[in-house]
Amino acid sequence: MTSTEIRQAFLDFFKSKGHEIVPSAPIVVKNDPTLMFTNAGMNQFKDYFLGNRQSPYPRVADTQKCLRVSGKHNDLEEVGVDTYHHTMFEMLGNWSFGDPALPTAGYFKKEAIAWSWELLTEVLKIPKDRLYVSVFEGDEKDGLPFDEEAADEWKKWIAEDRILKGNKKDNFWEMGDTGPCGPCTEIHVDCRPDEERRQADGKTLVNADHPQVIEIWNNVFMQFNRLKDGSLQPLPAKHVDTGMGFERLVRVLQNKTSNYDTDVFTGTIAAVEKITHKKYDGSDSKQAIAFRVLADHIRAVAFTIADGQLPSSNGAGYVIRRILRRAVRYYYSYLNYQQPLLNQLVPVIAEQFKDVFPELEQQQAFVRKVIKEEEESFLRTLEKGLKRMDELISGKTAGTLAGKDAFELYDTYGFPIDLTRLIASENNMTIDEPGFEAAMQEQKNRSRSATTVDTEDWQQVHAEAPVTFVGYNDLNVSTRVIKYRKV
Ligand code: ATP
Ligand code: MG
Ligand code: MG
Ligand code: MG
Repeated sequence: MTSTEIRQAFLDFFKSKGHEIVPSAPIVVKNDPTLMFTNAGMNQFKDYFLGNRQSPYPRVADTQKCLRVSGKHNDLEEVGVDTYHHTMFEMLGNWSFGDPALPTAGYFKKEAIAWSWELLTEVLKIPKDRLYVSVFEGDEKDGLPFDEEAADEWKKWIAEDRILKGNKKDNFWEMGDTGPCGPCTEIHVDCRPDEERRQADGKTLVNADHPQVIEIWNNVFMQFNRLKDGSLQPLPAKHVDTGMGFERLVRVLQNKTSNYDTDVFTGTIAAVEKITHKKYDGSDSKQAIAFRVLADHIRAVAFTIADGQLPSSNGAGYVIRRILRRAVRYYYSYLNYQQPLLNQLVPVIAEQFKDVFPELEQQQAFVRKVIKEEEESFLRTLEKGLKRMDELISGKTAGTLAGKDAFELYDTYGFPIDLTRLIASENNMTIDEPGFEAAMQEQKNRSRSATTVDTEDWQQVHAEAPVTFVGYNDLNVSTRVIKYRKV
């Protein structure tokens, strides 16, 4: 099956079970102070869970564009290094809103579990002996019991030794530090070759134990609202909230050992090969990681800009700029490509997703222009910044980079701190992060008083004589201060 057919099969299945298919919400979240970007399919339905609004439909399903690069769910460091965490990914989901006014249309654990099993094993034909599930073991601190009901439902479908207990970290899903949450049951697929699985017989592996054993689907049973003081408040009704990683599902169904070998990514990787005259070999080499990072990051950057968030020097915009600069450094250093590259990939993904997320194709020219300008701007300072970084770490094989040096890289060369951290870690070094924060704060204080002085100067200068522009004090577009000289 192609990825397009797989997405459609998911939506068709839940449509046949009475779900309304709804569009993805934008990646950028504008009306929720607890969240910058959509990190799960449920975000757009938060108010239904909290009982603030009533859903027009008791059951819905969709594919949601998600971004996990900040806050509680942040996978940035994994991306490209492993083959199944992305910055931006599609989360396929189905929901039941347990609105008390719609008692007959809602469903809970029994149906959610039965339907996930039916879809995976009967419609999509994943071999049953490759599947494992985990259920919530309970948590003393929160006063929550073992989820026996979910375990009992699973026993109808899967051998008992394939039902594992999971702790709060993995099996109690929370949107953020506060907000809707509840126990969950996850489905994992063991994609190791038959021979390897036979040899390891008896040992059950789950996500993160082995690169070929991955979690694909999470069924959350929304029952609580986590309050700021850490306590759990029961929600007015119980809901089902599921999320399945689309790219991971495609990988399983297309029998690949990496998400990047599926047709979700091969078009972009081929485009990078053509542009750079390098080959992607799927290994753990820096060059292979660079290919994966580019194929991943361009999606995050392009879709987020298409959803209205421009790169900038603070807030959500700075998150996008950081992802973009991280990608630039990867092609610059590891694909030996020194021209703006990312923007050239926009047409490839715009075309690929035009029927699913048409907003990118519709704004293609604009998105490409924004990305190109961002790339050009960073490429102007990157080489000098990398040289400076080399000087700072030369001769060292371990240790800590001083906060003031990390700040210099940030301030003068536009290196986001996570990029400096990444380069430092490639040299077994860490950064004095509090030192960096202190330097940053100092600069903020300085520029605050500088602004006041500048205003006064400006008035005086005007009164006395004309001025000429003599340049920027540094090359970083985001922090530069314009200097004038009296003539
Ligand atoms: P993992 O343990 O692999 O980090 P998770 O438990 O954090 O995943 P959930 O919050 O349960 O993920 O999200 C539901 C589903 O979304 C997961 O089962 C997985 O298939 C998918 N998913 C989660 N994070 C990512 C990611 N960064 N990239 C791609 N798919 C993801
Ligand atoms: Mg995770
Ligand atoms: Mg997990
Ligand atoms: Mg999970």
